[in-house]
Amino acid sequence: MWLFSIALSILAVALLSSCHTQSYRATIHEDTVAPPRSPIPSFNAAHAYGLIERQVAFGPRFPNSPGHDSCRLFFLEYLQRYADTVFEQSFVQEVYGKKLSLTNIAAVFRSDLSQRVLLCAHWDTRPYADEDPDPANHSKPILGANDGASGVAILLELARLFAQHPPPVGVDLLLLDGEDYGRASDIEHFCLGSRYAAQHYPFPIRPLWVVVVDLVGDRDAWFPWEEYSWQSARELLKALWNIGKRRFPSSFREELVPPIFDDHVPFIQAGMRALVIIDAELVGNRSPNPRRRYWHTLRDTPENISQESLLAVGQTLVEWIYGTTW
Ligand SMILES: [Zn+2]
Repeated sequence: MWLFSIALSILAVALLSSCHTQSYRATIHEDTVAPPRSPIPSFNAAHAYGLIERQVAFGPRFPNSPGHDSCRLFFLEYLQRYADTVFEQSFVQEVYGKKLSLTNIAAVFRSDLSQRVLLCAHWDTRPYADEDPDPANHSKPILGANDGASGVAILLELARLFAQHPPPVGVDLLLLDGEDYGRASDIEHFCLGSRYAAQHYPFPIRPLWVVVVDLVGDRDAWFPWEEYSWQSARELLKALWNIGKRRFPSSFREELVPPIFDDHVPFIQAGMRALVIIDAELVGNRSPNPRRRYWHTLRDTPENISQESLLAVGQTLVEWIYGTTW
């Protein structure tokens, strides 16, 4: 009995070790042939367009406004359907004599992965149409179909896609508040949410890259290399524009433009590598096309948006995320 059981044990060990050797060989073989690649999914631009209409239907969404509060609840409910974790980063800040209740909304995908990227867009809209040709409109709030809703729509649609096709890298999404609160030339009171998030980083792991999308929906949008992004994240800027130029040549141009202070800057100042994808010509209403001069005016409405531009940015991000060996 005792001997028999020893003999059985020896036999079992021999069998197990031979199985082990075989599976070890198989693993080495697979590794040397090709690393596993995730298939690249398709970005749904029609759905992203619908998400712009959905945001605009809440009306203007500037801090302390009713539209701001309802839209925040919509984002939470939407993201909870798709993300591993959703949470709010709330803070109060006094600006121009008003106590503003500000909230960055965070969503985590692939929380099991330690290599991570951060994608951001601002969700607040400007409380004053101070660039409107009619001075009577300067104190009225804008709808922000492009300035606010377009970037957020791309991130929300990516969230839905990440749930269907888990990305090969950890992705943190951050919808930033208070980007557009500053009065003209008062740069200190722009980018309130990104300043707070960069100083109180809300996720446990710092990202390899930060990508901000802003003003990405105009029907004739084109995206140059922005100077701060060029200084901070040149390698990624080139990689993204390589993808973008190949797939959407009228949208991505390798042309360097002067710096724009946007939500990527506080992250750069906090030591992260960050870039912005932005239709830079809209800022300051410098487009030669009169239709495109609606930045910070009451004309920032869904009529200016096209699914093609949303697709160009959304699909470029998808191809970067799923096509990179992380
Ligand atoms: Zn703006």
